[in-house]
Amino acid sequence: MEQLKIPQATAKRLPLYYRFLKNLHSSGKQRVSSAELSEAVKVDSATIRRDFSYFGALGKKGYGYNVNYLLSFFRKTLDQDEVTKVALIGVGNLGTAFLNYNFIKNNNTKIEMGFDVDEDKVGKQVGDVPIYHMDQLEEVLKGDITVAILTVPATAAQQITDRLIKRGIKGILNFTPARINVPDKVRLHHIDLAVELQSLVYFLKNYPTE
Ligand code: ATP
Repeated sequence: MEQLKIPQATAKRLPLYYRFLKNLHSSGKQRVSSAELSEAVKVDSATIRRDFSYFGALGKKGYGYNVNYLLSFFRKTLDQDEVTKVALIGVGNLGTAFLNYNFIKNNNTKIEMGFDVDEDKVGKQVGDVPIYHMDQLEEVLKGDITVAILTVPATAAQQITDRLIKRGIKGILNFTPARINVPDKVRLHHIDLAVELQSLVYFLKNYPTE
């Protein structure tokens, strides 16, 4: 299938659509309307129709979308046929939670190894994932691991990032509050849970829903 260029806003909704369609498929449904999809994923149906037109999926009136077609498209586009290997740095409370959860059930990404400086954690396994010492990073981090999750203290984030990039990491999911710098060739996503929570509380107070 030819890879077409999908707008970033649409691409961000892809995993959401994919998860829902997988559930539909396993319950045996062959087709779905944009209204049903809209209700389930909480995206308005006009947006869904526009998004899906990028996927080459044209819904028919009174029929809806073909679930199999959409699924195979999403699988290809999201590279679900191939597992993306991930390294996690910082096996603290948050890091441990991610290791136990791992992500393999939802989408084909898998945390392959963890790193920490704490001797009590090194050499153990958390949720089947081996934990190495940071001193071993250059030695054990192989080219097939392209993504890293950062759950270290903020002060360590930049220095660790620089080392990861030297080892060929292409994408970083930063859970520390630190604003880190990466070269253009590296994709950086930042999730600051404290900021998100504070922002939610602010919105609740200042923009009441009712
Ligand atoms: P979390 O913030 O994940 O809930 P925590 O409160 O248990 O964790 P933090 O002090 O935030 O602990 O540290 C997170 C983890 O990062 C700890 O396991 C710590 O040992 C580890 N860590 C600290 N410094 C480094 C470093 N330079 N490199 C790798 N790991 C580190």
